[in-house]
Amino acid sequence: MILLRTPTESLIVSLCRLVPLPMIAMDQIAVHYSYGLIAVSVLTSMIAAYAAFSLAERMRRSVTAQHRRGWLLGGSAAMGIGIWSMHYLGMLAVVLPVAVAYFVPTVLLSLALAVVASAVVLSVVSATKLGWRHLAIGGLLMAAGIGGMHYTGMAAMRSTVMHHYDMRIVALSLLVAVVFSTMALWIGFSVRDRSWHGEWLKIAAGAVMGLGIAAMHYTAMAAVRYIPDSMPMSTVWTVKVTALGQAAVAVAAGVILAAALGSAALEKRRNRELEVSQASLLDTQEQLREANAMLSELSFRDGLTGLYNRRHFDAVVETEFRRAARARQPLGLLMIDVDHFKAYNDTYGHQQGDECLREVARVLETEPRPRRGHDTVARYGGEEFAVVLPGADATAATGIAELLREAVLALRLEHTGSGTGRFVTVSIGVCSRKPEIGETTENMLRDADTALYVAKGMGRNRVAVAGTVEVGA
Ligand code: GH3
Ligand code: MG
Ligand code: MG
Repeated sequence: MILLRTPTESLIVSLCRLVPLPMIAMDQIAVHYSYGLIAVSVLTSMIAAYAAFSLAERMRRSVTAQHRRGWLLGGSAAMGIGIWSMHYLGMLAVVLPVAVAYFVPTVLLSLALAVVASAVVLSVVSATKLGWRHLAIGGLLMAAGIGGMHYTGMAAMRSTVMHHYDMRIVALSLLVAVVFSTMALWIGFSVRDRSWHGEWLKIAAGAVMGLGIAAMHYTAMAAVRYIPDSMPMSTVWTVKVTALGQAAVAVAAGVILAAALGSAALEKRRNRELEVSQASLLDTQEQLREANAMLSELSFRDGLTGLYNRRHFDAVVETEFRRAARARQPLGLLMIDVDHFKAYNDTYGHQQGDECLREVARVLETEPRPRRGHDTVARYGGEEFAVVLPGADATAATGIAELLREAVLALRLEHTGSGTGRFVTVSIGVCSRKPEIGETTENMLRDADTALYVAKGMGRNRVAVAGTVEVGA
């Protein structure tokens, strides 16, 4: 039979003879790649890796161990399914001219390995510290998981072709897996805890890790030669993969990863809201503490003069009295009363009287004297003041009383209504004693008061010492 060709057909045949065709071994089956599926598989791998970093962050921020376990389980499952579907999409991208089915138990084993590898990633990236040893072991384990998953997945293939491995390329694929895994773990660990930038860094880290997983996969795929098998294909426990199946794997992986990412994002937002409300709670607590401190300060301060009030004075006297009794030390007490103060008010008015009290209080508080830091000055009531002098015997207490009396006089506050002199003066009663254990402060206060009235009786603007004092320590 004469074969008639159109001129166009003849031209194509001639041209084809000019182009050297790639040499394919006689017994080797030529395969084609579906590039669309390859792209989808690489993208899936990247998204899975990015999800892993997000989930690791949630895991690390988990408050309870139970929460942490939950994130680890859910995260490993989501990421494992992501890596696994990347692998199967990659396998499906290899178009063999023969029927291919997958042995289900081995497929499930490969899925389990992917989940274990993901658990390694999550544990390493969420660890508090990452030492070199930790990183190296993590990288190796993760590579072993991903490599194991890949080659187990390959073993699940059932077809009328056998696959033969070029062991050098297999070794290279494992090396690629170790290098990328270690690198990805290190990047994943380093980029966490960054705020806005962190999101981009995390995406970049996810891309590196996803590319790494894909690189491992495709290097491994390059190691395979498909040889026709004379044995009939076993179909026990196998599934055939159709275009619908491919779509289903891709969609399921997408949905699972989206759910994982979505819940991580939700948890993140909830945590941020929680942090904000915690911060404002802390703020409020701080304000409350300050307000409390101010209130308690106010509760023992006198409003007019700013000196300690009577309540605080009573507490201090009690404390110092007991301390002095225990230490067998003297305790000095001064009762100070402004002379002819009623007349002052009558002459200058109540306002001016208040001003005068403030002036006297300021001098009592600030006048330099020995052991200044140890005493407590208080407004005892009306125009009366009191000073507690821990450790002061009668001589020391009298000396200080004298200093204070002179200091008030030195203010030279005019007091024309005073029967004592031209200026405001004070009279002071002094009492000092070594308290006995079990004794009360009452007697001491009464003695100081008595001494004060002695001073008044003696003409005012003077210091009188209670008669029962022990002189000297
Ligand atoms: P003496 O020298 O004997 O102490 O005479 P005195 O007038 O100072 O004593 P008296 O107890 O008769 O009067 C005390 C006055 O102090 C009566 C009261 O109006 C006045 N006073 C008490 N507290 C205040 C105050 O907070 N502000 C003013 N401006 N006056 C006060
Ligand atoms: Mg008085
Ligand atoms: Mg008075």
